[in-house]
Amino acid sequence: MNRRFFSEHPIGGDAAQLDGAEAEHLVRVLRGKVGDQVTLFDGRGAEYSARITAVRRSRVELAVLARHLTCRELSAELVLGVALPKGERQRWLVEKAVELGVTRLVPLVTQRSVAEPVAAVARLRRYVIEASKQCGRNRLLEIATPVSWAVYCGQDHGTATRLVAAFGPQAAPLSQAFSRATGGGVWLAVGPEGGLTDDELAAAASWRRVSLGSRVLRVETAALALVAFCSLHDAAPVTPGNGLDE
Ligand code: SAH
Repeated sequence: MNRRFFSEHPIGGDAAQLDGAEAEHLVRVLRGKVGDQVTLFDGRGAEYSARITAVRRSRVELAVLARHLTCRELSAELVLGVALPKGERQRWLVEKAVELGVTRLVPLVTQRSVAEPVAAVARLRRYVIEASKQCGRNRLLEIATPVSWAVYCGQDHGTATRLVAAFGPQAAPLSQAFSRATGGGVWLAVGPEGGLTDDELAAAASWRRVSLGSRVLRVETAALALVAFCSLHDAAPVTPGNGLDE
């Protein structure tokens, strides 16, 4: 069994433990037993080979065998500010954002938002863990505290490239507006299902407006199209022997 499991506790010494949903997954679903070897990560960048030493009621104890510093992050920060859609579409958006390497997702409060962002944060974190287990990321995508559109667009972005998905003649094709992330990273902004108001567009006056084509995309499609474009301009290939091709 070579599966990945997330430890809520920072892994330091030669022992580790899993509890809650992760212990449940390992023992009840995958029937993990003493002696089985698994991979652990704690979201801080490294992954660990570990062997199960004890299976308790709602806890699994493991011996840490080796620590590997395997980086599967993008070379520069990729921040996605988005007015979240509802339900399953929200889950899909977070899962794909993790897979494509987004560093931080900032739920945006807009005048025409449909989902209540504050209630969502804890649930979104669980989606992040599930997706990270599957795709091999050892750092967790950060779910930021929700902020208003104006605050997000107006904060200090340093030297980052800032792109806002928008309609209209002022919006440049994405391939013209973006070629490569600079060291300062990329910040993206995507509006809500009901669209952006004139005030909100004005708050992003210093951002580069980009078009995603002549069709109206749903929020999660627009967000992922932007993210995929930026991520794949950065992507390093999966190399044999990095643990993901087994
Ligand atoms: N009824 C709304 C549609 C909003 S789509 C309206 O008329 O504005 C949700 C968000 O996705 C938009 O605010 C925008 O940020 C982004 N988006 C969707 N399709 C897009 C496209 N073709 N080009 C640029 N941005 C797009």
